[in-house]
Amino acid sequence: MTPMMMSASTSGVQQTQLAALCAPPPRQQPMGVIMAGAVLSVIVGFVALFIAGVIGNVMKVPDKFFPLLFVIFFAAGGVTMTWAVRRALKFHRYNSEELPPLLAVWQRKWVCHKCHHQFDPEKPAA
Ligand SMILES: [Zn+2]
Repeated sequence: MTPMMMSASTSGVQQTQLAALCAPPPRQQPMGVIMAGAVLSVIVGFVALFIAGVIGNVMKVPDKFFPLLFVIFFAAGGVTMTWAVRRALKFHRYNSEELPPLLAVWQRKWVCHKCHHQFDPEKPAA
């Protein structure tokens, strides 16, 4: 009973490896970065706000500097969002410029079912 179960789980792992081997090069997710960045920038904004508030308390900064906290909140959030947008643009550029040639290679490739060697007919092995 046990050997059968083991062989079943072993072939399951091999299937997963083969599936991974045969999977196309993945697309990047620009919208995912934008949405994660939006959430993250609010969190970073509040963390910066909190730290600035604590420092302001400890250093006994006069109340007239209170509006500065809003500047700090939006600056920290803005920096985070800028980072996310730049990353999303990079992902978008990858999807539109670098991914198509990789997909073309992937589409003409063949995988040997026995040894999992990958053949590219346009680049014969030396
Ligand atoms: Zn082979």
